Amino acid sequence: MTEVEGSEFSLRADLVLIAAGFLHPMHQGLLEKLGVDRDARGNVAANTDDYATSVPGVFAAGDMRRGQSLVVWAIREGRQAARAVDEYLMGATHLPT
Ligand SMILES: Cc1cc2nc3c(=O)[nH]c(=O)nc-3n(C[C@H](O)[C@H](O)[C@H](O)COP(=O)(O)OP(=O)(O)OC[C@H]3O[C@@H](n4cnc5c(N)ncnc54)[C@H](O)[C@@H]3O)c2cc1C
Repeated sequence: MTEVEGSEFSLRADLVLIAAGFLHPMHQGLLEKLGVDRDARGNVAANTDDYATSVPGVFAAGDMRRGQSLVVWAIREGRQAARAVDEYLMGATHLPT
């Protein structure tokens, strides 16, 4: 995001909440410590086959992987990632795809 010169305006209000962003997850802290690769948009890089990141044993799903999105995607990816983790740990899985 960059500042657009001349785009300032005033609002008369008692309270203003700014819901801006739709950026990648925060890199400082956990992600930097883990050292997971990130995609071009700054999200944690992982595909939807196994949800595995570049660090063995570390998986990513939902907004963390695909960027800001919808609850339905988070649910779907969470279920599929759980299956991938089960398979990774147990060598096989009975969880639904
Ligand atoms: C303002 C707003 C409005 C939205 N409106 C809609 C809508 O109307 N409909 C819709 O479908 N979607 C909407 N979304 C998007 C939706 O909320 C997300 O796509 C969804 O919640 C993503 O789920 P997630 O499980 O991937 O991530 P999240 O719901 O963000 O869950 C991630 C969790 O990880 C936790 N966490 C983060 N870092 C750490 C850490 N280091 N250690 C431990 N825990 C950690 C967080 O506290 C959080 O509980 C909206 C999002 C926003 C911000």
